[in-house]
Amino acid sequence: MSLTPEQQAEIDELRANPAPTLRAVSEGMEKHLYSAIPVLDHGFVRVIDYMGDDAAICQAARVSYGKGTKSVQNDEGLIRYLMRHWHSTPFEMCEVKLHVKLPVFVARQWIRHRTANVNEYSARYSILDREFYIPAPEHVAAQSLVNNQGRGEALQGEEAARVLEMLKADSTRSYDSYEAMISQDGQQGLARELARMNLPANIYTQWYWKVDLHNLLHFLRLRADAHAQYEIRVYADAICKVVADWVPAAYRAFEDYRMGAVSMSAQMMDCLRRMVKGEVVEQSTSGMSAREWREFQDMLND
Ligand SMILES: Cc1cc2nc3c(=O)[nH]c(=O)nc-3n(C[C@H](O)[C@H](O)[C@H](O)COP(=O)(O)OP(=O)(O)OC[C@H]3O[C@@H](n4cnc5c(N)ncnc54)[C@H](O)[C@@H]3O)c2cc1C
Repeated sequence: MSLTPEQQAEIDELRANPAPTLRAVSEGMEKHLYSAIPVLDHGFVRVIDYMGDDAAICQAARVSYGKGTKSVQNDEGLIRYLMRHWHSTPFEMCEVKLHVKLPVFVARQWIRHRTANVNEYSARYSILDREFYIPAPEHVAAQSLVNNQGRGEALQGEEAARVLEMLKADSTRSYDSYEAMISQDGQQGLARELARMNLPANIYTQWYWKVDLHNLLHFLRLRADAHAQYEIRVYADAICKVVADWVPAAYRAFEDYRMGAVSMSAQMMDCLRRMVKGEVVEQSTSGMSAREWREFQDMLND
């Protein structure tokens, strides 16, 4: 379970005490405030706070004294124009602060996104919970044969069972030793900052992560993508749903001009123009490497 009854009670109390405000409010985001969206077996994403909405993007773009909005269509058109032309700073005027609980190996990928503010749970100060990510059987997969940085078919039968058993047993054994080392029962007890060395990378950590909308969309573009590892992609997918509710027009533009778009090289554009004119272009006449040609074919056939 991702939340204890006490943690849920704290969230319920916060949600039960709304305060009036003059700030921009996104109705779609209000429903997410404080609630935990479960991810993986023990993780979650919670919206702690946010600033701005679709109108705030237009307000900043127009450097307006008032709300900055015109009509809904006019605003959406502006947002789409900004997204299409990489005019990114108006999107930086919106921010979100998330509380995320995630396995350490996922946190290592996530922390590479440097354009956010982070405060992580201290394992020097506190004792980590006995919670490990154990993949669901369909995600216990073999090394991919075509992609060195990915997984292929799910393991089957005895091999799958043996792998799952090893993951569980090793996690439990490491945590038992961690507890035994820090225990003050009849011994001095090893410092927490040292005992944690023994913990595996599938143990859960938590952090507050604050980021502006422009950089969040950059994160989502990379981590909600099919090439991202499943275990970080499910967090990105959960955040995508939150962003769609928070800034629906910006999210639609993001889907159209980033997630659903492709970036073509000069050679690809040249081939495309020749193909539109009726020429049959082969890899040998494309000016592209075999790999780039394959990627081009994937773009056209997707
Ligand atoms: C599918 C996938 C596979 C990956 N594989 C690997 C891997 O094998 N090994 C590995 O090490 N990483 C890997 N990464 C991580 C990747 O290289 C980036 O570090 C990560 O995606 C963060 O991207 P970013 O730097 O654009 O984001 P952010 O850190 O959020 O930065 C956003 C942008 O700000 C600018 N910026 C921020 N900080 C600086 C800075 N200090 N100097 C200059 N410009 C800056 C850059 O323009 C950057 O694009 C992988 C990522 C993905 C999505």
